[in-house]
Amino acid sequence: MRYHGSCHCGQIAFDVEGDAITQAMACNCSMCRRKGSLLWFVPRERLALATPEEQMGTYTFHKHVIRHRFCPTCGIHPFGEGTGPDGRAMAAVNVRCLDGVDLEALAVTHYDGRSA
Ligand SMILES: [Zn+2]
Repeated sequence: MRYHGSCHCGQIAFDVEGDAITQAMACNCSMCRRKGSLLWFVPRERLALATPEEQMGTYTFHKHVIRHRFCPTCGIHPFGEGTGPDGRAMAAVNVRCLDGVDLEALAVTHYDGRSA
């Protein structure tokens, strides 16, 4: 499946390729609980950005291993970038920012990021 994602105002836009989204992860860390994001993980190369890097804001905290990308204009956080356990570059996409995803139908798993 190919999904189109964006922030609210459209300054950040991207396409992302992966299996049909049926589940997402909710995390209780200090960042995710405030954002309310529902996350879906894909290898970073599956995310094709239509926005120049410099048009995105970047926020890091704690161990500074995840780059939380956000729109400086509308404030929405569509995805984050990091490294998976196997050393691969990964993207954590906020499925709330993707078109065509039935959020109510998703099986949500809860991750205890607060204790990580
Ligand atoms: Zn925006």
